[in-house]
Amino acid sequence: MRLRGTWSRVARSLLAPSTSDCLICGKKSRASSELTGVCKSCQASIPWIRHPRCPKCGRHVGCPDCSRGSDPVPIICNRSAVAYTSGMREILGQYKYRGNERLGPLLGLMLDQAYTILQSERGQTPRDGGSKQRHQFIPAFKNKRTRLWQADLLVPVPVSDSRLAERGFNQAERLADVLSRRRGVPQLPLLVRTHHTGKQSFKTRAERLADMKHAFAVNPDPAAGSQFACWLELSGQERGGRPLQIIIVDDIYTTGSTIRACAETIALWAAGFGCTLEIYSLTWARS
Ligand SMILES: [Zn+2]
Ligand SMILES: [Zn+2]
Repeated sequence: MRLRGTWSRVARSLLAPSTSDCLICGKKSRASSELTGVCKSCQASIPWIRHPRCPKCGRHVGCPDCSRGSDPVPIICNRSAVAYTSGMREILGQYKYRGNERLGPLLGLMLDQAYTILQSERGQTPRDGGSKQRHQFIPAFKNKRTRLWQADLLVPVPVSDSRLAERGFNQAERLADVLSRRRGVPQLPLLVRTHHTGKQSFKTRAERLADMKHAFAVNPDPAAGSQFACWLELSGQERGGRPLQIIIVDDIYTTGSTIRACAETIALWAAGFGCTLEIYSLTWARS
């Protein structure tokens, strides 16, 4: 009798859906099939931006910044995975300031959704030598096309040395790492932060724009320069004269001042190599 009870318990546990500690709420519950490490209820509450309302900055609501029309951000467009709600702020805070580094791969996986959106918007690539998609998409965003638009290079937004020492990692670089592995697009540390700009969330739009001027420079490390020159030569044939498609990667897009400063620095630098650019940005959240 006791043996039968044990066997039925084993059978029940084998048939039951797998449960694990959710990376977001910490509860042991049924895992979502779409987002690894997240429970079904947390997955359902993520404010995905599946249909950006602003074609330029990828905002999910009406966008006064881009409709002003003056001084546009020098990128083709930004796409963000989620809206920066209080729930998303809490997750990012856990990751960036409270040392919950287990969230890193999850945020990267979420950013990958924004890549899928950008990819489907850009359509099929005209290039012949395009690499075959190597990774599976998350079902909700599944795209059946076999030859899709691909970026050539990912450039993470750098943090200052003091920030890096304090936090121990650069969140933008970690996000770019996940994207790079999933999509087979290289990432290069092309930029460095020349000065610490302080907490941007307390500043007005004008203050942020002024603050960001000259906040970035090209990485002075000769290894980064030669890595880029070498990569440019190798990838040149595949591109066949089309512009270099670069994606700047960051965690948040607020006014676009950070992305603007990075894009301007990259554009100036690439001009020295005589190459034409299309710059995009992918950010985890759009505030
Ligand atoms: Zn959960
Ligand atoms: Zn906009």
